[in-house]
Amino acid sequence: MSICLQGIGMTSLRTRERMIKRLAEQGITNNRLLEIMRDTPRHIFMDEALSSRAYEDTALPIGYNQTISQPYIVAKMTEVLLGKVGHLKKVLEIGTGCGYQTAILAQLVDHVYSVERILPLQRKAKHHIGELRFKNISYMHGDGTLGWLDYAPYDGILVSAAPAEIPSQLLAQLAIGGVMVIPTGSSGMQVLQRITRTPSGYEKENLEPVTFVPFLSGTE
Ligand code: SAH
Repeated sequence: MSICLQGIGMTSLRTRERMIKRLAEQGITNNRLLEIMRDTPRHIFMDEALSSRAYEDTALPIGYNQTISQPYIVAKMTEVLLGKVGHLKKVLEIGTGCGYQTAILAQLVDHVYSVERILPLQRKAKHHIGELRFKNISYMHGDGTLGWLDYAPYDGILVSAAPAEIPSQLLAQLAIGGVMVIPTGSSGMQVLQRITRTPSGYEKENLEPVTFVPFLSGTE
């Protein structure tokens, strides 16, 4: 897939290579994912004032009290979602935010269905992702508590905000054999979970402690 690399100098290529090296040191092993993160300009998803910090391993503000997830978390969640199969057809993303995670997913799966509750953030994300010309992303402005029934079931569901408990609609929209990656718990006590749907129910595994913005109901 070709990516528009206009306006990206050597410096940002070097910093992106450093970012990939760090991700590998932090335990990310999926090489295809690492290559995609190296080649995807993260800084175009941020306001100009912060774009020089785009490749630091930190969450940064994207407006409306929300943050872009740190590169390690994007990589970790994507790697867990892909699992050993490495390729998924339909993925539901809850919390488009600035769209960076969406752009990474779009290069690894057949189609991404992305739901965001804050309309101006969704508009910005569409604009930024538009620069990269992906055609396999569908957007919905809505409350992710309800998932996106029209295209269910999904082989993968990735949630970038932390609910106290996993919404039942999201569990229901996961295909049998599908995987959901989701942070759960209240602020300061969140854990990243992998949920696998089996023919008889759901297997839950706690992966690691994390810090996410809260999963909120309704739309803005
Ligand atoms: N992956 C995104 C994360 C942004 S922060 C990025 O890196 O930019 C989490 C996002 O989840 C925010 O944009 C927030 O508005 C959104 N969100 C929170 N609760 C939601 C819900 N119930 N439905 C849809 N989006 C939600």
